[in-house]
Amino acid sequence: MTSLAPQLIPTCAELATAVAQASQQGKTIGLVPTMGALHAGHLSLVKASTAECDCTVVSIFVNPTQFAPHEDLEKYPRTLKRDLELLADYNVDFVFSPSADEMYPAGCSTFVDPPEVARSLEGAFRPDHFRGVCTIVLKLLNAARPTIAFFGRKDFQQALVIRRMAEDLNVPTNISVQPIIREPDGLAMSSRNQYLSPEERAQALVLSRSLHAAETLVAGGESDAAAVLAAMKELFDQAGVTDIDYLSLACPDTLAPVQTIAGPVVALIACRVGATRLIDNQILTPPPQI
Ligand code: AMP
Repeated sequence: MTSLAPQLIPTCAELATAVAQASQQGKTIGLVPTMGALHAGHLSLVKASTAECDCTVVSIFVNPTQFAPHEDLEKYPRTLKRDLELLADYNVDFVFSPSADEMYPAGCSTFVDPPEVARSLEGAFRPDHFRGVCTIVLKLLNAARPTIAFFGRKDFQQALVIRRMAEDLNVPTNISVQPIIREPDGLAMSSRNQYLSPEERAQALVLSRSLHAAETLVAGGESDAAAVLAAMKELFDQAGVTDIDYLSLACPDTLAPVQTIAGPVVALIACRVGATRLIDNQILTPPPQI
């Protein structure tokens, strides 16, 4: 593997110049938006980008507008030096790491009104979250003008919201959604996992365990969503994880809740383990009808 440090770019203007040069050379551009504290989940998106595109931009920006005042903006891990070292092994061309003032200069007051699919689940528990996400993603897409932008299915609703926004606002970028990367014991990788104490880390396995249990039930022919949700809830009770924002079985396209499972559905979870809010999800597929 080549080990060439990516060029660090702090401003939108410099990013625009760098990607315009690459585009003029006929190169396709891949963008991987992140908030840093990179882990194997982020790196899987980077690998997808470098495999599919000639030039890869990774953005690292802890976006203040997607955090509510009581959330973890201040303590969110910021590890730029280590992130750059990690990316040096991945053939990344540019790391865009702007300041908050660069992305939101004085007077900046335009925001994206998120699509319908942003209303439920995360949108219900984090009311301005997707407004902030849509706004920063659109700004990054406009600054980097990528051929393809890469997102993780770990944030299932976010991927739907971004796809919809890109379509509704005629954004000329393909949105690619990549699989969830997990720790060997099943915990979905997340920059927030580092907040967990050893005891909480063990408790947090209930997310992936309950998704696996739901997958087994549905694959075995259980079609009653309430029964599947009850089985998942039972596992949460046993693990002592009681601070649950939602356990939901929903249509994978609209996120409308499902009562009877007659085709693929998505199971979505958001809960707090200790003070740490974690999310996870999985597609559940019923057995073929004979
Ligand atoms: P974040 O830095 O948490 O904003 O995440 C940046 C991107 O990485 C988003 O598109 C996430 O969905 C994606 N991502 C985060 N964790 C994972 C994971 N465990 N597997 C795959 N993608 C992930």
